Amino acid sequence: MTVSELALFGGPKVVTAPWPESNTIGADEKQAVMEVLDSGVLSAFRGTAGPDFLGGPAVRELESAWAAKFGVRYAVCFNSLTSGLIASIGALRIGPGDEVIVPPFTMQASATCVLMYGAVPVFADIHPETCCIDPASIESKITPRTKAIVAVHLMGHPADMIAIMEIARHHKLKVIEDIAQAPGGQLGGQWLGQFGDIGGFSLNYHKTIHSGEGGVMVTDDEDLALRLQLIRNHGEAVAEEMGVKDFVNTFGGNLRMTEMEAAVAKEQLKKLEDLTVPRIRLAEYLDKKIENLSGIRPWRKTAPRDRHVYYFYAMHYDAVETGLSRESFVEAVRAEGIELRQAYIKPIYLEALFQQRVAYKSNFPFVFEGQNSEANYKKGICPITEDAYEKSLIFGKFCRVPLTEVHVDQVVEAMAKVLSLAGELKKRNDAA
Ligand SMILES: *Cc1c(COP(=O)(O)O)cnc(C)c1O
Repeated sequence: MTVSELALFGGPKVVTAPWPESNTIGADEKQAVMEVLDSGVLSAFRGTAGPDFLGGPAVRELESAWAAKFGVRYAVCFNSLTSGLIASIGALRIGPGDEVIVPPFTMQASATCVLMYGAVPVFADIHPETCCIDPASIESKITPRTKAIVAVHLMGHPADMIAIMEIARHHKLKVIEDIAQAPGGQLGGQWLGQFGDIGGFSLNYHKTIHSGEGGVMVTDDEDLALRLQLIRNHGEAVAEEMGVKDFVNTFGGNLRMTEMEAAVAKEQLKKLEDLTVPRIRLAEYLDKKIENLSGIRPWRKTAPRDRHVYYFYAMHYDAVETGLSRESFVEAVRAEGIELRQAYIKPIYLEALFQQRVAYKSNFPFVFEGQNSEANYKKGICPITEDAYEKSLIFGKFCRVPLTEVHVDQVVEAMAKVLSLAGELKKRNDAA
């Protein structure tokens, strides 16, 4: 084979027919929404003390079903996980002068939720084998101002909650689990969401189960559940009447979920297991297939007792071993018709907001009461994250319904094809 066989240079593509789209919305969701529409009550929330403070029947049914499924005492739904994460920071009474340790390699809300209450995000690096926040790095970032940790189960891989909870207990810190990418994941047979003080799921369109937009927070703590409910729904209007004594962070917004979204989400929740099992099966199949590709290995460290749910299938790319830059490799594989991606998200601290320390006027909260926060956002603070972003991470949504082994085979075939021509491709790139 010569480089001219690559689809990049006009050769035949590995993928000859388009992959089937995923659509998990069916008759059950339609019927559930029709029932809500027929009732005429599209949202029953009212920002006043009384039964309507907690929303209508669909919202409450979703919350009971969610709490039952994940074995927690309380579930509180929101219009998005972003809203739920913000409310969680509020519920934990975090505010100006406080620091929260977060990963830099995640959807931005995991860090910006901290800023919304005037606290400072401090970034801890990811673990080299999991893409999730590294307990050792967390420990090195703790200061007297640290109040909480946000642990994100990135790409479906469980973060090391055993070690993280141990650190939290030792230093009296609160923990929020971001489960957006790992609903149905487990550690030691326990659902993700059962470890932290608060856990949060996303129901946005791109997640494994969805209702268009939406989020569900879970907790075993009655006070935290109440605080989440207050922040969700204009808490300042009801706190006094409801006998709340401590008003810190109880004022709220309208972060409420509609009855239609709740009705859809409740049907989707029933499908979670059926959507998860094939993901794991396809990922295990792909694990075996890529064993023969040199320079590429799965990005994972799961003990057999852990359940990784493969929101993305992440791989480690070694350009020295393959002899080809990650950019050229990904470009050539994509030309074959495979949606291979690289880099994921720019390490959050490298965003201008952190580089310039401008979130609010007067550089608050980085500068607070004349004090300069010592939080460090310099390039280099999280080297594993930067390496994943700049050089070593490749990933894709290859393990999901309705895809099958046939599609996974195409992923491997395309990568193998490009690898077999890596030397020639590099020569051609160097010459150009
Ligand atoms: C999707 C996502 C969020 C935010 O969820 P929304 O419901 O879109 O607000 C937060 N964290 C992670 C890791 C996500 O993937």
